[in-house]
Amino acid sequence: MKSAPYATTLGSIKALIQGLYVSMGQFLRKPVTIQYPEVQGPIDPRFRGEHALTKDEHGHMKCVACYMCATACPAECIHIEAQPAPEGKGWEGRDKIPRSFDIDMLRCIYCGFCVEACPKDAIMMTNKIPVVHDNRKDFIYGIDKLLGHYDEFGRELHKQQLREREAIHERH
Ligand code: SF4
Ligand code: SF4
Repeated sequence: MKSAPYATTLGSIKALIQGLYVSMGQFLRKPVTIQYPEVQGPIDPRFRGEHALTKDEHGHMKCVACYMCATACPAECIHIEAQPAPEGKGWEGRDKIPRSFDIDMLRCIYCGFCVEACPKDAIMMTNKIPVVHDNRKDFIYGIDKLLGHYDEFGRELHKQQLREREAIHERH
């Protein structure tokens, strides 16, 4: 029969080994933390980040200045001024395009209603995380910035989003 101090020592050693085993297991695991903001984690394609105005195969904006997005926006933060569409290759079949297209990102609640309302898939939400500016003027995103977002963040993502949307429609 083991003496009480002997049993206690064995128990302590066993607990120590178990503790070391757990620690080593954690030590060898791949870290789940990332060094944000230098490193950004993966963002889901459905993430509703900053907007972009999409372009067609001619490189023209798809928007036809129909105001559907502005009408659907619950925050009333989209402001569009229309002008007649230019003539020439790629502009056929359009009456209007926007002269200006502004989104007040300070009012936007990132609901995505504008994207849902658009009959031309002309507006999308990229996975660009909303940024902070130090003055109100920079929060008004105009047509050039929104088209630039498409080139920089939206081109491939938009194809993926449209494929996903089609797949959802086919399932229902
Ligand atoms: S995401 Fe919502 S709030 Fe923002 S512009 Fe679109 S409709 Fe308006
Ligand atoms: S983005 Fe779409 S809904 Fe908005 S004005 Fe242009 S075509 Fe119409």
